[in-house]
Amino acid sequence: MMKRTRKSKKDKGQVGTEASQHGDRALGMNARICRRDFLNSTLLASGSALLESLTPLELLGQQRDWGGYTGEGDYAGANGQTQEVMLAAHAVRDGVFDSPSTPAVDTDEVFDLVIVGGGISGLASALYFQDQAKPNQTCLVLENHPIFGGQARRNEFIVDGHRLMAPQGSNMCGLPGPGLVGELYTRIGAKTHEFKYQEWGGPPPAMPLGRTSYDHFRKFPSVASFGFWFGPKFGQQPGRWVVDPWNNLDQLPLSPELRSDFAKFLKLVNEWNQSPRHETQEELRRYDNVTIESIVTERYGLSREFARLFIASNIAAGYGVGPDALTGYWYRLIFGLGPDTTPGYSFPGGNTGVARHIVKTLIPDVIPGPRTTEAVCRNRINFGTLDRLRNQVRIRLRSTVVRVEHEGEPEKSSYVRVMYTRDGKVYRLKARAVIMAGGGWITKHLVRDLPSTHRQAYDQFNYNATLVANVAVRNWRFLHKLGLSGGRWFEGFGYWTEVRAIATIGADSPTIGPDSPTVLSLIVPFFYPGLPLAEQCSKGRAELLSTPFREYERKIREQFTDMFSGSGFDARRDIAGIILNRWGHHYVVAQPGFTWGEEGKPAPRDILRRAPFGRIAFANTDLGAVSGHVMAIEEAHRAVGQLLPVL
Ligand SMILES: Cc1cc2nc3c(=O)[nH]c(=O)nc-3n(C[C@H](O)[C@H](O)[C@H](O)COP(=O)(O)OP(=O)(O)OC[C@H]3O[C@@H](n4cnc5c(N)ncnc54)[C@H](O)[C@@H]3O)c2cc1C
Repeated sequence: MMKRTRKSKKDKGQVGTEASQHGDRALGMNARICRRDFLNSTLLASGSALLESLTPLELLGQQRDWGGYTGEGDYAGANGQTQEVMLAAHAVRDGVFDSPSTPAVDTDEVFDLVIVGGGISGLASALYFQDQAKPNQTCLVLENHPIFGGQARRNEFIVDGHRLMAPQGSNMCGLPGPGLVGELYTRIGAKTHEFKYQEWGGPPPAMPLGRTSYDHFRKFPSVASFGFWFGPKFGQQPGRWVVDPWNNLDQLPLSPELRSDFAKFLKLVNEWNQSPRHETQEELRRYDNVTIESIVTERYGLSREFARLFIASNIAAGYGVGPDALTGYWYRLIFGLGPDTTPGYSFPGGNTGVARHIVKTLIPDVIPGPRTTEAVCRNRINFGTLDRLRNQVRIRLRSTVVRVEHEGEPEKSSYVRVMYTRDGKVYRLKARAVIMAGGGWITKHLVRDLPSTHRQAYDQFNYNATLVANVAVRNWRFLHKLGLSGGRWFEGFGYWTEVRAIATIGADSPTIGPDSPTVLSLIVPFFYPGLPLAEQCSKGRAELLSTPFREYERKIREQFTDMFSGSGFDARRDIAGIILNRWGHHYVVAQPGFTWGEEGKPAPRDILRRAPFGRIAFANTDLGAVSGHVMAIEEAHRAVGQLLPVL
């Protein structure tokens, strides 16, 4: 089944970008949507010219509205890594606080434990501390954003009177039960197993909807209401959708070789689903010497072109880069989730639900009401409770740590000095122990007396850049009319999107249909197959940082118009708001040798995990060699356990 989309005519008198087929007015660039007016549009309209002469940071510094609209509620002003936070972190990297005698206001505070970073790893560390601390022991979490959660935060929109939530990053959660992470869920009262998700409320037949931003994207074959779009790159002008592509492979406008690769791939996936391989850890570790791409081409006989066209974005969406650079240890990812897998579990705003539950457990009156998932998800945070003197665990927001070092020799010292900036002032305080939970890219700059072994270990960590664009639409009839609830594309901006059924604890309606407003997420990892991994990461970061809000907004509007104008989409009318969440250091990327070490040498992450350095221990998901809230929690548990003897 094929559907054709129509190109809209360029508006008279409106100027589009060179790449654009659409004028500003047709795209709704000046429509009054949920975004701030763009003050310096003249500067930004010439953004690409400026890019040639300015570094990304210089360009960034000139953008008054780089962040764009930031949403409503608790998370307003805290979308992705904010401009303010990034500039503060870059000041650290660029040596602004290198002098130990940097003038600072002494807060006269001494904490038993200071945790740098209030993401899931930092918050879980605080909880494990509180569970084991003596009543008089104290802890301070220093977090640089206006709200805790790190990559587990959410965006909120109000669209036609409906409150809509979508994850800024961390999406899929787990269930309470046995094991460290399941036990933490039980401990914090996160009853994710009791969630009910919105039911179909549109015209029959019901469309199956995922619960996370990637349930259907990661399944092969996907559900029948998932499609592939092909545009000019594949000779399709206007572009066209192939609905239920896995059952219509003959309709894909691809070369015979690529089409045969798709068929071969589907056969491989079906065989895998029927009898997946169960390698031992030792066997899997052997694959850590090669890339996934070499397994795809050599063992499975698929072409490199297929791997880079199809498999790359699928893997990059969850692991940062494509199979050309990722360790073969994760080769199973090529088979996706399997058609019968239970849909993922998700809070309405993603794993910020886990973060909110942890904080509610630490500071019970931080969110009014009982510790039910509904109250914790929906009620507003009372920010005034976070940093009270009487809390055993205090959380100090908008505070960027800029220096951490032992007072004297690390092995003999009794304290660690911590310096941070807040509202343009520099402060210092002391701690008996510190957990660095902010991520290796910044930790190696912060800990001033870090041994060279540890610093060199951190130098081997690579992080890709990812943009999560949340696009609130007034309805999604334009998808439904095509027979779709989601789809994937291979050119232009982004890779896929799909409508989610929200857990009803955070939804205004127990049902969802094509007339319902929703948030379509575009998760856009930056990766460049064939380039060395470190170059892929830095190139992506430069692109993410230097692209103005308005340019991304235009790309999104153009992409949607190209794909959906033929089924009635009108960017001016249908887009109610756009929030960009920029993650400069997103997934830690496991290249071959990273996870288990090379040639008998310890893996870099193990140098940081095996013991604390003096009174400083290291957490964050990156030490788990892969980004996920499970690893963030496991590393927190280890780090706290390692410091207990010195507390
Ligand atoms: C798009 C996307 C999708 C994802 N999807 C999933 C998913 O479905 N499931 C899943 O389990 N995981 C997912 N993740 C992975 C995510 O990394 C983890 O789930 C988890 O949120 C990581 O927590 P963390 O505390 O280790 O790191 P972070 O969340 O990065 O927290 C570190 C915190 O420290 C702060 N910080 C850094 N430096 C300083 C400083 N100098 N001073 C003060 N504060 C500082 C940071 O701003 C941040 O708030 C996703 C991530 C993204 C971005």
